[in-house]
Amino acid sequence: MFIRTLLKFFIPGSIIFAAALFIEKSVTFSPLIPTLNTFYPYAVLIIGTFLGWRFSRSRLIFVLMILAFSDRIYHGLSFSQDDSLLIDQTVYNVLTFLIPLNIAIIAFIRERGIFTLRGLGRLGLLLVQPFFVYTMIKYRQLSLFKFLSFDIISNPFLDSIAMPQPSLIIYLMAIVFTIINFIKKQDIIEGGFFWVLLSTFLALFPGEAASVSTFHFATAGFILIMSVMEYSHNVAFRDELTGLAARRSLNEYFLKLPSRYSMAMVDIDYFKKFNDNHGHDVGDQVLRMVASKLSKVEGGGKAFRYGGEEFVVIFPGKSVNETRLFVEKLRKLVESTPFFIRSPKRPRHKPDDLDNAPRSRTGVKITISIGVAERDENHDEPYEVLKAADQALLRAKKAGRNKVRIFGKAHAREK
Ligand code: GH3
Ligand code: MG
Ligand code: MG
Repeated sequence: MFIRTLLKFFIPGSIIFAAALFIEKSVTFSPLIPTLNTFYPYAVLIIGTFLGWRFSRSRLIFVLMILAFSDRIYHGLSFSQDDSLLIDQTVYNVLTFLIPLNIAIIAFIRERGIFTLRGLGRLGLLLVQPFFVYTMIKYRQLSLFKFLSFDIISNPFLDSIAMPQPSLIIYLMAIVFTIINFIKKQDIIEGGFFWVLLSTFLALFPGEAASVSTFHFATAGFILIMSVMEYSHNVAFRDELTGLAARRSLNEYFLKLPSRYSMAMVDIDYFKKFNDNHGHDVGDQVLRMVASKLSKVEGGGKAFRYGGEEFVVIFPGKSVNETRLFVEKLRKLVESTPFFIRSPKRPRHKPDDLDNAPRSRTGVKITISIGVAERDENHDEPYEVLKAADQALLRAKKAGRNKVRIFGKAHAREK
C-alpha cells in the first residue's frame, strides 16, 4: 500500500520532470529546444484544454491558462532597457509570487467543473490578477508591489538568485503544501501538482536562452495532462475499495497470458451473513483485509477483484501443481488473520485501569474458499479456465468451506 502511494507521487510527474531537465542539460538535446517549442507548448495547450473539457477537469484548464499567460508575460520582459527595468523587475517579482500561490490554491480546491457558477467565479479570480497588475503598472503604482522585493535576510547566496525572497518563500510554502495535500488525498493528480510547481520554478530561471523557460512551462502542463490520464486509467482499471486490479484489467490481462497458466477463484465464506450481522461498512473492511492478503500472493501470482466478494488470482507460466502450495498459503493466511470489530461497549475514553477495562475489540475469523484450474486442451480460453476454477470453487464450498479444490482432481487426492 505504501509503495503504491509512493508510485502515485512519482509517476508520471518525476519521470517527465527528469526527462525535461535532462533535455535542458544535455549538450546533444538542448539545441533542439527551440525547435521543440514550435509545437510542444501548443500541443500541450490544445490537448490539455480539450482533455480538461471532456474529462471535466477544470483545474487542468486553470493551470494551463496560468502557464500560457505566464509564458507570454515572461517573454515580454527584457530586463535590459534602463527605462523599463524597474517595471520588468516588478512584473518578474509579481509573476514569481503569483504562480506558486495560484498553483497551490488550485491544488487545494475541489473539482467543481468549469461551466458552473463556482467554476466561472474561479476563472474570473484568475483573470482579474493580470488585469489588476497591468492596470496598477500602467498608472505607475509600482510602490504597491514593493513588498515583493523585500529582503528578509541578507545572504550573499540568496542575493545572487534572481528570484526575490518573498517569492522563494511562497515557492517553498507551496511545495511543502502540495506534499501535505498529496499525503492527505493520495491522488495522482495531487502528486502531479508538486512536479508542476517544480517545473514552473525551473521555467522562471532561464539560462542563456529564454526558450528554456517556455520549454519548462510547457512541461509543467504536460505533467498535469499525464497525471489526469494516469488517474483516469486508474479509476477505470483499479478497484476503488480494495485497491486491487479491477475486472476490466482482468480482461486486458487475459490477452497477454502465456500458453501455460493457472487461475484461482476466491470467494469469502458466509459473507452475506457477515454483512447482515455487522453491517455493510464492516463487510467492506473485510473485503479490504482479504484483498491485502491476496495482493501478497507468492509464486508470481496477480490478484484481481472479480466482483462483489469474489477474487481471481492468476499465475502465469505455472501449472496447478506448481501453484497449489501458494494458494493453500493464501487460505491459511486469511484464516489465521483475526478480524477485529469495534464493540459497541467500547468506552469513549481510555480507561485508567486497562487490565480491568471491558474488552473493546473482538476478533472474528474470516475464511475463504478457493477453486483452482489450469489451461489444458479442454480449457483453451482464459474464460473457460475461469469457469473451471469456479466449478472447483463450488466443490470447495460444498466440502464445508475454508478449503482449496482443484478442477478435475479426485476428492481422494485432495486434502
Ligand atoms: P458462501 O459461503 O456460499 O460464499 O456464502 P456467501 O454469503 O458468502 O455468498 P453469496 O454470494 O450468497 O453472498 C455474497 C454477499 O456479498 C452478498 C453481498 O451482500 C455481499 N457483497 C457483495 N459485494 C459487496 C461489497 O462490495 N461490500 C460488502 N460489504 N458486501 C458485498
Ligand atoms: Mg459469492
Ligand atoms: Mg461468499
